[in-house]
Amino acid sequence: MHTLNRNRHDVVIVGGRVAGSAAAMLLARLGHDVVVVDQASFPSDTVSTHSIARSGVVQLRRWGLLDAVLDSGTPAIRQVTFHAGGESVSRTLKHKAGVDLVVAPRRYVLDTILATAAQRAGADVRHGVTVTGVRRDRRGLVAGVYGHDRGGAPIDMSARYVIGADGLGSRVARSVGATINEARPSGGATQYAYYAGIPWSGMELFVAERSFAGVFPTHDGQACIWVCTPSADARAVRRGTGSRAEAFGELLERSAPQLAERLRHARRTSPVRGMLRQPNQVRQASGPGWALVGDAGYHRDAVTAHGISDAFRDAELLATAVDQALDAGSEESTALACYQQQRDHALREIFEITCRLAAYPAVPEFIELQKQLSAAIDKEAAELASWPIPGECLLATA
Ligand SMILES: Cc1cc2nc3c(=O)[nH]c(=O)nc-3n(C[C@H](O)[C@H](O)[C@H](O)COP(=O)(O)OP(=O)(O)OC[C@H]3O[C@@H](n4cnc5c(N)ncnc54)[C@H](O)[C@@H]3O)c2cc1C
Repeated sequence: MHTLNRNRHDVVIVGGRVAGSAAAMLLARLGHDVVVVDQASFPSDTVSTHSIARSGVVQLRRWGLLDAVLDSGTPAIRQVTFHAGGESVSRTLKHKAGVDLVVAPRRYVLDTILATAAQRAGADVRHGVTVTGVRRDRRGLVAGVYGHDRGGAPIDMSARYVIGADGLGSRVARSVGATINEARPSGGATQYAYYAGIPWSGMELFVAERSFAGVFPTHDGQACIWVCTPSADARAVRRGTGSRAEAFGELLERSAPQLAERLRHARRTSPVRGMLRQPNQVRQASGPGWALVGDAGYHRDAVTAHGISDAFRDAELLATAVDQALDAGSEESTALACYQQQRDHALREIFEITCRLAAYPAVPEFIELQKQLSAAIDKEAAELASWPIPGECLLATA
């Protein structure tokens, strides 16, 4: 029996973090009736480090949210130091695509800024709501979602479109039977913890055989310290040590001994978190009455730290497509097929680089791929900066 909230909305979005809240904000700015639900309470963290590449920072700036992110106290990062083979090279970020900095805000801060922006734009944002399935109409088209609130009361929402922004394990993707169109080997692990008590000089990246480690300075004088390795290596080290924290320390010692030495004077302020065997996969992006965005539709190893930027880009592509389908009278199937085509084209170059990096080639090739990544991000950032901003009139009067 699903009886509550049966009003028909233009769009129901399941999942309210970087993909879901961004899509909700843009659709609401475009004038649509949007509900976004998330089973989590906000502010809350999720398993993720959180460096936002230039392309993602461009999106925050275009959407009018970069100041809020900087005002939250996360440092503007303008220096990146690359350590490899005993040498260190520092560079200052150039002013490109309208930005001269990157940021690494904690997810409980970033995701809340986005959820608040969605709400301010007019979206109905409901936390503590778990979706358990999609509802179909008599023709078999997806026409809403059902689930329950935190107290167990049933929820049933009817919508013209259902968007799954519910992450890698997407319930929406499973409910609609979205196919995995491309699956590549998934051998990479990323683990991280927060440290305080020593100074951080911008972002640092350490390349060594079969590992990539680094420093993302974040709020409150802390830094996210992370290490990416093949999962097999992470598992082997864990088996030989007494705890996850000890294993993390040993991996850092192997990957970035200078950093491990500096951290002896710092204080770890969190447990070690992370993910093993990160999938590299692209799912079908849409079908009749539904679409996927963010990790629900496309997941890649965190070695390129590009998931948040992917989510921002694809949220805008999807919001534009759904707006066309709802308003401009264009055929739904054409607009959503166009979303899939644009998403698959946009993700391609960095996805290929990610898959190659996640195989941990020898150090010279790894460094060459990092250079290719940097160029690909700059190219993407320039392209995003040239897009018209959805709902710009509303932004100007906000
Ligand atoms: C270890 C690690 C490190 C990373 N580091 C970086 C990095 O440095 N930079 C970067 O750009 N990216 C990074 N990423 C990738 C990034 O975290 C993801 O790409 C990003 O979180 C995807 O956002 P999303 O909104 O699609 O999904 P998520 O962040 O997974 O959010 C999904 C939301 O959906 C909700 N939800 C799920 N199921 C339901 C349901 N049934 N009903 C209601 N709500 C539901 C969840 O509560 C959740 O809040 C990293 C990932 C990992 C694992």
